[in-house]
Amino acid sequence: MTAPRLDVDLGRIEHNARTLVERLALRGISVTGVTKAGLGSADIANALLRAGVSALGDSRMENIERMRREQITAPISLIRSPMLSQVDRVVRSAELSLNTEWSVLKGLSSAAGQSGRSHAVLLMVELGDLREGIMPDDLADMVQVVLRLPNITLIGIGANLACHSGVVPDHNNMAELSALAESIEQTFGMRLEMVSGGNSANLDWALGAEDTGRINNLRLGEAILLGCEPLHRRPIEGLYTDAITLVAEVIEFKAKPARPWGAIAQTAFGQAPADAASGDRSRAILALGQQDVDPAGLLPPAGIRILGASGDHLITCADSGGPVVGDEVRFGLNYSALVRSMTSPYVLKAMNRNSAAGLCVSQTPECGVLSGRAG
Ligand SMILES: *Cc1c(COP(=O)(O)O)cnc(C)c1O
Repeated sequence: MTAPRLDVDLGRIEHNARTLVERLALRGISVTGVTKAGLGSADIANALLRAGVSALGDSRMENIERMRREQITAPISLIRSPMLSQVDRVVRSAELSLNTEWSVLKGLSSAAGQSGRSHAVLLMVELGDLREGIMPDDLADMVQVVLRLPNITLIGIGANLACHSGVVPDHNNMAELSALAESIEQTFGMRLEMVSGGNSANLDWALGAEDTGRINNLRLGEAILLGCEPLHRRPIEGLYTDAITLVAEVIEFKAKPARPWGAIAQTAFGQAPADAASGDRSRAILALGQQDVDPAGLLPPAGIRILGASGDHLITCADSGGPVVGDEVRFGLNYSALVRSMTSPYVLKAMNRNSAAGLCVSQTPECGVLSGRAG
């Protein structure tokens, strides 16, 4: 088969999504299935919809438009603040967008008016991670102006943590979001339909909290695709951590000295090679490099250790009985490796529709770590 390729097991993705949808439903929390790491693949979107997500979310209009072209009719949220230059496209293809800027909201309002549509907006509040969000003290003023804008409907507020600064979603910041929702409702005599607490990093809090307050939605991508919670990158019980794997082919296998020889300067990507071993090593080179994946985010199978990577070569050290030329090696991925390989034109995306979901759940010891290799 073609390599490198991402093997995407749609049944396992569906299983992961359904498990989280069911667990969160017990706490009154709906799931927006986030498709951005899959580039808006309709196969992945449909797996999420079969699993019962209440809506889809994506950060990029290109992905949202791709899903619409591929006949996805479910509600879709644009989860990154719209670009002012794209408001026409936003109201055409997305039912809802997450917003923080007055000028953008005004743009959405007039674009919606011109195209005879109505568009829903959620206001994002800054709770300390210092990415997107209106400062809490400014929220009421923003609500007031949004309520006066024609053709857009304020359906709620939301927050996003653990992305830029690693701020942990916890009882305090989630209670602050709930309190803000209640204060907006009291001040303006309205009901906020959605209070969207965050992303996969909220799962520890959402599944462990005694009281999830007013939070009734989470936007989940990584936890569904990789089966891991992103705060400590631990596997989530009952989820597959190998729903998506990356396969690469061995193009050289030789015993070579562990240490380089000759005068040493910079490498192709700047960093100096580090190998403390002496003597000979079995080195397997795979046709996989920086242009295909973030090599630092690869989780190799047992018996294979990654020594380094250049643009097109992954240099590994293999135990005896290692792979031969032409063998495929299967890697687990972290989020960084996943998005790089999904966006690489060199990596085939192999969508496997025939897998049986939920029959047996692999309990891998660590996120993405797999054993064995494909022949
Ligand atoms: C990417 C993103 C998500 C989903 O994050 P995961 O960690 O993949 O669950 C949710 N909300 C916003 C605003 C995002 O940008």
